[in-house]
Amino acid sequence: MNNQRKGRDININMACSKSNLNIGIPRAISYYNNYPFYYGFFSKLGIEIILSDKTTTETINNGSKYVVSDTCLPIKVFVGHVINLLDKGCEKIFIPSIQSTDYKINNCSKIRGLPEIIRNVLDKPFQIIEPTLDKTEGIGLKTFCFDIAKEFGITDKNLIESAISYGWNIYNKFCEMTKSGIPQQEALKNAINENIIKKNVELVRPISVVIMAHGYNLFDERISLNLINKLEKMGVKVFTSLNITRNEAINSIHELGEIQYWANELDLTGTAAYYMLNKKVDGIIALSAFGCGPDSLMVDEIQYHAKERNMPMLHLTIDEHTGEAGFITRIEAFIDMLIRSKRKLLQKQHNNLKILREPKKTIEKNKVLTDSLA
Ligand code: SF4
Repeated sequence: MNNQRKGRDININMACSKSNLNIGIPRAISYYNNYPFYYGFFSKLGIEIILSDKTTTETINNGSKYVVSDTCLPIKVFVGHVINLLDKGCEKIFIPSIQSTDYKINNCSKIRGLPEIIRNVLDKPFQIIEPTLDKTEGIGLKTFCFDIAKEFGITDKNLIESAISYGWNIYNKFCEMTKSGIPQQEALKNAINENIIKKNVELVRPISVVIMAHGYNLFDERISLNLINKLEKMGVKVFTSLNITRNEAINSIHELGEIQYWANELDLTGTAAYYMLNKKVDGIIALSAFGCGPDSLMVDEIQYHAKERNMPMLHLTIDEHTGEAGFITRIEAFIDMLIRSKRKLLQKQHNNLKILREPKKTIEKNKVLTDSLA
């Protein structure tokens, strides 16, 4: 039996159907890294996915009302998305507890305890589908997926296993496209339609930067204030964690002499390290949430290595009050500085080249200059 739904629009904006076989997925936190897998898995099981709407200021305000003010912005946003799904009439909402993604590679306490946070702050009648992934404790993806299926009364082992492999199939297509430079949303749309598209010839841009950030901060256009788009409009080439493989990120962390501890470290330390070590960019931009413990450690670590290698770095911290004007000013100032440094460097290289090509003429010219200054 093939329950898969092809070509489903990812911007579903409708009330939940009355069928029991549907699940609300908040467009936040693990959505940004794992949705291609979730999509394949649920659709193969015949479970309809209801996505929350894209983040808006209202989503943030709604979520902020329910949690203490020093909670990080992504968690406030997550709460706002759950409220949005409840408003759509969803009765089952997917809120996994992702404890560790590899042996002793942990998530922060807020992501680990996400189902508990939601249960405690939202006193509303709905069911939380809360499978646990904890590779440190030997609870892997298979158990995670079987636990989800059980909540819908699905116990057919073959069907669940084929849903898992279909999830990987969609996920791998997504990764193949993002690695080649296809933007995140475009790759997602094509992956769930089972397409693979190739990137057209890349324009050469004079300045390039890598952004180190969690996917849920960077690819949520409201949270990141559309940072990628703003940089591209300035003519900057942008690299992110989606442009490298997991192994490239892990190896780069080791090459820096660091060890991976946080689950999201590949998006931050690993990505920045890869581009810094391979000298592929002119600068690094760190985008982190105010009050995030893991981010402050990772950004500090990269700042230290960037300083040692003379790599310029800008650290942008965001919360629900971050204003667009100040944000743009800081980015523009950073890019201006990168342009000036690059111009100076190119001028220096050009002069050195000239000395190599025309040593006699240049030395004579320098002598005249030195004599005139004497
Ligand atoms: S890693 Fe940081 S930003 Fe992400 S949920 Fe945890 S505290 Fe918040």
